[in-house]
Amino acid sequence: MTTPDLGGMLAVARRAVRAAAALCMQVAAAGPHRLEKIGREPVTLADYGSQALILGLLAESFPDHGVLAEEGSAHLLAEGGVSGVAAVAAFVADATGVECSAEDLVGRIDHRGGRGTPLWAVDPIDGTKGFLRGDQFAVAVGLIDGGRPIAGVLGCPRLTIAGIEGVLVWGGPGLGAFVEPIAVGDPTPIAVSTVDEARRARVLGSVETDHGDPEVIRRAVARAGLGGGWVRIDSQAKYAAVAAGLAEAYLRPRNRADWRERVWDHAAGAAIVTGAGGRVTDLDGLDLDFSTGGTLENNRGVLATNGLVHGMVLGVVG
Ligand code: AMP
Ligand code: MG
Repeated sequence: MTTPDLGGMLAVARRAVRAAAALCMQVAAAGPHRLEKIGREPVTLADYGSQALILGLLAESFPDHGVLAEEGSAHLLAEGGVSGVAAVAAFVADATGVECSAEDLVGRIDHRGGRGTPLWAVDPIDGTKGFLRGDQFAVAVGLIDGGRPIAGVLGCPRLTIAGIEGVLVWGGPGLGAFVEPIAVGDPTPIAVSTVDEARRARVLGSVETDHGDPEVIRRAVARAGLGGGWVRIDSQAKYAAVAAGLAEAYLRPRNRADWRERVWDHAAGAAIVTGAGGRVTDLDGLDLDFSTGGTLENNRGVLATNGLVHGMVLGVVG
């Protein structure tokens, strides 16, 4: 097999994210009983269905590529039992139009590929709490090579960009960044905003207070006089918003010294913001290092901006 080009890989990732996002919305439409959390973790049938669709396509298209993905079938089996597995398999069969046995489903969810590069970083539902609340969430597929994110695709069915309600956002360093309707449609280029004044800078942070200390954000906003507003939204939709010029900065301080960011929470978004002309570092101004497995061992927090306000924000986060 010859090494597929980046365009070919992105095409598969876009197809996978589109299908997975549609499955998530199907599960949401099927009613609250389908949305219940499985066990104590914030994970739903949709998380597993989405991961099965994405990893199934990756396994088929790029069997040798490595995969890092958030979910595993053991938890679904333990907490959802046979009926949980059957319910997810039914959603997957519905989405693909092809039978999906319990065995097929488990194989797809647990596919981790070979040791080949590049490496795929998959979060089947980033922001599961947002998904459950009816707020923002993202289906995220990032591509890592040489410890750097080289491309990413985010499916955000509840996010509006440039008048498009429900978006697929994708891109990467040197590729540019694009938005298209999540259902079907042509891609349009997007770019980070040109705002460089503190008083107009808009800031994004997590809704969940334990995902990033809001007090640190509040202090940074006050110290730098960031006057465009501070909005809290779930998931990598924050990266998509910065990439599309809807905000100037996404600030993610740690709220525990021992927390290490998960690779699948950042690979896709970081690639897209960089492609859109922005800048992504940790709170010490270091590049994110994606070479250390499933977590960013060498980084403290995350800052994604339009580039122009980056130094200004870094200067005020302690
Ligand atoms: P967000 O929607 O931006 O708040 O981020 C959701 C992600 O936060 C989830 O996918 C988790 O991987 C991640 N997460 C879970 N616990 C923490 C934590 N203590 N600090 C930072 N992120 C976390
Ligand atoms: Mg996540």
